[in-house]
Amino acid sequence: MRVWNFSAGPSMLPLEVLEQAAAEMTDWHGTGMSIMEMSHRSKDYMGVRDEAEADLRALLSVPDDFAVLFVQGGAQGQNGLLPLNLIQRNGSGKADYVLSGSWSVKSCEEAQRYGDIRVAGTSGQSWQDQGKEWAPWTWFPEPSQWDVRPDAAYLHVCTNETIGGVEFNDIPKLDVPVVADVSSNILSCPIDFSRVSVAYAGAQKNAGMSGIALMMIRRDLLGHAMDLCPSAFNYANIEKQQSMFNTPPTYSIYMAGLMFKWLERQGGVAAMQARNAAKSEALYGFLDASEFYTNTVHPAYRSRMNVPFLLRDQSLDALFLEQATAAGLTSLKGHKSVGGMRASIYNAMPLEGVQALIDFMTDFERRNG
Ligand code: PLP
Repeated sequence: MRVWNFSAGPSMLPLEVLEQAAAEMTDWHGTGMSIMEMSHRSKDYMGVRDEAEADLRALLSVPDDFAVLFVQGGAQGQNGLLPLNLIQRNGSGKADYVLSGSWSVKSCEEAQRYGDIRVAGTSGQSWQDQGKEWAPWTWFPEPSQWDVRPDAAYLHVCTNETIGGVEFNDIPKLDVPVVADVSSNILSCPIDFSRVSVAYAGAQKNAGMSGIALMMIRRDLLGHAMDLCPSAFNYANIEKQQSMFNTPPTYSIYMAGLMFKWLERQGGVAAMQARNAAKSEALYGFLDASEFYTNTVHPAYRSRMNVPFLLRDQSLDALFLEQATAAGLTSLKGHKSVGGMRASIYNAMPLEGVQALIDFMTDFERRNG
């Protein structure tokens, strides 16, 4: 039996994608072998890779002056690789970071090993707004408040904080190139590449399985890596070799390709954006109307992908999780740093799954409220 899987990542995949992978597992397109067994230099596999890139470009309308890379090391690997590749772009050795939660803080801390890093804006303190006090990391620092050094090689932001459930996509046009960690909201809404110069994402949430980071990078930012940068992680080398400088995680790229085809069949990113709005509005609407559950994120910055919520009576947490699992709703435990629950509702989660969660929560409240 399939469950409704609310895991933050790796996360639920559409059944039809898994079934296609299963059907092709031992004999891919009449070759008599699995994708896993195929040389990454073979014509067949190069075709799989090329098609994945072309589909990703089409889905996100990636401009021609951007390279699309499949990079190893996941998203956190890029926390070190980005400064190694970019921070000497203009010889300054400087980069600025906007802090909006756990993932951007991690990115910033790692970058400090490679250059002169400064915080351009942070939500790490409480904020008075709309007559209320919002706790640290429950809101997003507004761009008008960012203090970006003009000679910074780049400015880093995270557009969706997977743990805190804070999302912000309205990146302004800046002179300094913006690097965006879009790990947990890639392909859920458009990316404006006139404002974002580098977008990167671990694939394991909205683009298949772990093993690769998808990266869209403006080509003029390539070729400035520090000497220290490992050759296999120099983005210019990766681009020159079409993401095959060394053997890539071939199956991860194949699975991302199947996800891209599935997304096309759903109507692309615009259709996903509408579906994600409907799903998240249903869940937040339910939470806001409830006295039993609560979400503490500022309404202007609530994530459409990761919905953290608390039971007002936290002594019921364990019972909630146990009964949710028994009802086929899994992986709802919140991250240990925020506690409570978290429902991750990425592209592959249909409205039906969100409705099943709301129905369970309504029933749980009726029995325990
Ligand atoms: N950035 C964000 C926003 C994430 O949600 C995650 C993982 O959950 C990461 C980075 C780290 O990804 P990885 O495990 O691929 O290094």
